[in-house]
Amino acid sequence: MSPVDADGLARSLRERVDGDVRFDAGSRGAYSTDASNFRQVPIGVVLPRTPDAAADVIAVAREYDAPVLSRGGGTSLAGQCTNTTVVIDWSKYCTELESVDTDARTCVVQPGIVLDELNAQLADTGLRFGPEPATHANCTIGGMIGNNSCGATAQRTGKVVDNIGRLEVLLYDGTRFWCGETSDEQYAEIERRGDLRAALYRQLRGLRDTYADRIRERYPDVPRRVSGYNLDSLLPEHDFDVAGLLVGSESTLVTVLRAELELVPVLESRSLVVLGYPSIDRAADAVPAILPHEPIALEGVDAKLIRDEEIKHLNPEALAELPRGNAFLMVQFGGADTEEADERAKRMLDAMHESDHEPTVAFLDDPAGEDELWQVREAGLGATAHVPSHRDTFEGWEDSAVAPDRLGDYLRRLSALYEEFGYASAGASGGAAGRRERRHRYSSSP
Ligand SMILES: Cc1cc2nc3c(=O)[nH]c(=O)nc-3n(C[C@H](O)[C@H](O)[C@H](O)COP(=O)(O)OP(=O)(O)OC[C@H]3O[C@@H](n4cnc5c(N)ncnc54)[C@H](O)[C@@H]3O)c2cc1C
Repeated sequence: MSPVDADGLARSLRERVDGDVRFDAGSRGAYSTDASNFRQVPIGVVLPRTPDAAADVIAVAREYDAPVLSRGGGTSLAGQCTNTTVVIDWSKYCTELESVDTDARTCVVQPGIVLDELNAQLADTGLRFGPEPATHANCTIGGMIGNNSCGATAQRTGKVVDNIGRLEVLLYDGTRFWCGETSDEQYAEIERRGDLRAALYRQLRGLRDTYADRIRERYPDVPRRVSGYNLDSLLPEHDFDVAGLLVGSESTLVTVLRAELELVPVLESRSLVVLGYPSIDRAADAVPAILPHEPIALEGVDAKLIRDEEIKHLNPEALAELPRGNAFLMVQFGGADTEEADERAKRMLDAMHESDHEPTVAFLDDPAGEDELWQVREAGLGATAHVPSHRDTFEGWEDSAVAPDRLGDYLRRLSALYEEFGYASAGASGGAAGRRERRHRYSSSP
């Protein structure tokens, strides 16, 4: 690729884009990394004031043959936000909740809105956006769409792809449209227009028809599969969902200008049970026995993570609540009232005491205590990254997606590999370990 005329590009962006244009060394340095181990100095950074202004950025970049990359909170762990490109930072200005439809349980947002901010603004409606990565205080909806994120709530609400209505997207060539599930009538209508979008949809249909059987056969049936493009969203059984295809595409296919999100009701009451086990693999062995009780969240943490939090004096009161053991499963149940949530938790506990996975137990039904214990999990990655008196560690093995019934074996084999090659790691795991309440799109529910 020929080098980009950065001075000319910066000049044109300043003339034609409503937003901040930063091509100075300091800004480029600041945007050269995300939460990953990677570093690439960008060509420059633009903070557009509106989605239309972001579209202008891409039009200018195209004229200079300059690559572009979107950035939300920049909390990606695998270098998704680092590249030698023009970086579009959505998080400063494009943060609006544009509309809410409480009957349809949907809302339309700009991509830079932070998840916690969105849910705070939705609070009066009794609705919220379901997926919740541990970075919920910083991650943006655009970034969550880019990564197909999920987190502790994934048991109930799945990944982002399970919660997207439609996306307004822009291709590098300037083609701009709303997309989502596409009925045959809608497809015919798009075809009739004969524009660039029609050509694109035709190609996607062709791709789907050529490879449908192989996609069905070869895409792994793992609930928290977030790697690769969601080609399975294009299958007829998923209504040729073009938005679904684009979720998780990490800024490599389109720029998302707006998103229509599907919302879920806020649960009135929750109960948290913490189960203690002698080791993380033994805890993982218990997961398939827990899933039929339909927890709304299920997360695991191991002894190393707890030790690192102790060294850093993080969450001391919550750590004191943990039951005996070297590894813990945090299992949360929801209900219309406390009795219902508690009842569900007790049913699961009775079953576990009668199973081969007898745990030690801490039962919490006061919200403050529960929040603190969840923080133990959420603080996990940060807690293990820089521990006083320990060598720094770096993220490198993240977000493996494993079928629930193979989790224990997987962790045993992974530990053996660590041992063989002299690595160490803390374990925090969870997410879509089993089922989703809603579309059951990629479900391999046990
Ligand atoms: C401590 C820690 C814990 C984490 N825990 C979780 C977890 O529990 N679950 C989880 O899923 N992830 C987790 N992550 C990863 C990350 O925080 C999430 O995936 C988060 O949703 C990313 O949001 P962001 O706004 O920071 O995205 P960014 O990192 O800014 O971007 C993510 C991707 O989306 C693309 N993108 C952003 N905006 C747009 C747009 N408008 N159009 C097109 N593409 C766009 C970017 O180019 C990039 O490829 C964790 C990270 C850390 C550091």
